[in-house]
Amino acid sequence: MDEDDIAAVVETLRSPFLTQGPKVVEFERAVSEYVGAKYAVAFLNGTTALHGACYAAGIGTGDEVITTPITFEATSNAVLYCGGTPVFADIDECTYNLDPKEVEKKITVKTKAIIPVDFTGQPTDVDAIMELAEIQNLIVIVDGAHSLGANYKGRKVGKQAHMTMFSFHPVKPITTGEGGIITTNSEVFYEKLTLFRSHGISKTPYAVEQGDWYYEMTELGSNYRMNDIQAALGSSQMRKIDGFIERRREIAAFYNEKLVSIPGIVMPKQLEETESGWHLYMIQLDNKVLTKTRRGIFDEMRALNIGVHVHYIPVYWHPYYQELGYEKGLCPKAEKWYEQAMTLPIFPGMTDENLGDVVAALREVVC
Ligand SMILES: *Cc1c(COP(=O)(O)O)cnc(C)c1O
Repeated sequence: MDEDDIAAVVETLRSPFLTQGPKVVEFERAVSEYVGAKYAVAFLNGTTALHGACYAAGIGTGDEVITTPITFEATSNAVLYCGGTPVFADIDECTYNLDPKEVEKKITVKTKAIIPVDFTGQPTDVDAIMELAEIQNLIVIVDGAHSLGANYKGRKVGKQAHMTMFSFHPVKPITTGEGGIITTNSEVFYEKLTLFRSHGISKTPYAVEQGDWYYEMTELGSNYRMNDIQAALGSSQMRKIDGFIERRREIAAFYNEKLVSIPGIVMPKQLEETESGWHLYMIQLDNKVLTKTRRGIFDEMRALNIGVHVHYIPVYWHPYYQELGYEKGLCPKAEKWYEQAMTLPIFPGMTDENLGDVVAALREVVC
C-alpha cells in the first residue's frame, strides 16, 4: 500500500457513493483494457465471481465440469454451488497445470464446462483447452486468480477463454482488500453476470413502460457487488501492476539461477509460449535424491524464519469432497506432485537480501 492507494480510498469515502458506483465502472474499464477483453464485471471477491461465471455458463444439476485438483477449493466449489459435479483431471507434473490430454479423457456427454487454473501464475495452455471445448460446445472459464499480468503467446491472459476470473485478495497480483472480476468478450455472459451479481434485478423494457420506480427480477441472483471503496483501491493498484509483475519476474529469475546448483530441488518448468506472473514460486523436493522429508525441510525452513508454504492440498482429499465420494488416488500425478511440493516466498516487496537468505537457508537445510 502506497500513499496514493490510501488517498484513492479516502477520496471515495468523501464521495457520494460507497457501494457500487462510478469507481467500480472505472476499475472494470481499467481491467478490461489491460487484458484486452470487451467486458469486465467486478464482484465482491474471486469466489463469488467464479459462482457468477458458473451461473452464466448455465451449469446446473447433472452437468459435469472438468477442473484441476491442484487449486484453491473455491474453483470446484463454484460448480457445487450451481448443482454441478466437479470432475478432476490430472495435471502435467512439470508445469503443475491441468493437462489437456487428461481433460480429453474426462469429457463425456454430460460435460458442460472446463475450468483450468493458471496455477502459480503460469497460463494454462488455453488454446489446447479451447480446441477440446469446441468439439462439443463446452464453456471454458479460466480461474486466473494467480495470473493477472501473465502472458500467453505474447498476449495478456483474460480474453482467450469464454470467461476469465481474477481475484484481488491481498495475496494476489493486485488487491482491493477482497475482490474479484470476470472478463469476457461475450455480451450474453456480460448481461448474465451483471444481473446475477445484483439480485437478478433490472429495468426490462416492460419495467421501463411501468414508471420510474419499477424494476423486474428475472433471475435468481444475489448481492455479490464490489463496492466503490474496493474499486478505488483497485484502480490505484492497476496503475502499479506492471512494476509488481516485473519484480516478481526478477525474483523468479534469481531463484531459477541459484537453485539449479542445489541437488534434489526441481524447479517449475515454464512453457515457451507462456510468461508467468509468478504469483507463486513452487519447487518440488525430489524424494529420490533428498534424505530429509518434505515435512522435515518445511519445519526447518520455518524455524529459520523463512515463510515457506504448500499450495495446495488436492481438493478432493478434503473431508467434504471425500464424503461426496471422491476417492484418493483419482489423480496420481497431482498427488505425487503434492507430496513433494513446497512454496518459496515471492512478493514484490522482497529485497535482494531476503532472496539471498531464502537460498542460503534452503542450501543449509537440504545439503
Ligand atoms: C484466491 C483464489 C480463489 C478465490 O478468490 P477469493 O478472491 O479469495 O475469493 C479462487 N481460485 C484460486 C486458484 C485462488 O488462488
